[in-house]
Amino acid sequence: MKAYKVYAIKDGTVIDHIPSTKALKVIDILGLENEGILTIGVGFSSEKMGKKDIIKIENKYLKKEETDKISLIAPNATINIIKDGRLKEKRKIEQPKEYFNIVRCLNPNCITSIGDIDTKFYTVSISPLILRCHYCERIVESGEIEIL
Ligand SMILES: [Zn+2]
Repeated sequence: MKAYKVYAIKDGTVIDHIPSTKALKVIDILGLENEGILTIGVGFSSEKMGKKDIIKIENKYLKKEETDKISLIAPNATINIIKDGRLKEKRKIEQPKEYFNIVRCLNPNCITSIGDIDTKFYTVSISPLILRCHYCERIVESGEIEIL
């Protein structure tokens, strides 16, 4: 809980319990580079995880599409919503059952690779993360996931 004191913000979102050194990857997939003030903490001690990263985003609340993306990198992350300097809401990332237009299909012959069709994947397994393409049934495992 010390981290929140050090990195207190008035309004915004704190993403906690990111696997250590993955914070920059999360910022990258969310496209947060131009979203105002970001504070990134890498390598905090965590009882649960050993080491963890924390991202603080001022004046921004995440949409479902954005937390779905986070789930691909940091499935055990916690989202803390801060309003007026207080913790308003704390929730775990939910692993979505389906991913829309977030993950690339690795099958070059898949209709989503050839045509102008949004990708759609089903979650087959959460740990380890395994996804299946709706169109060609290609399985994509956690190590090979490419985010669009
Ligand atoms: Zn496919």
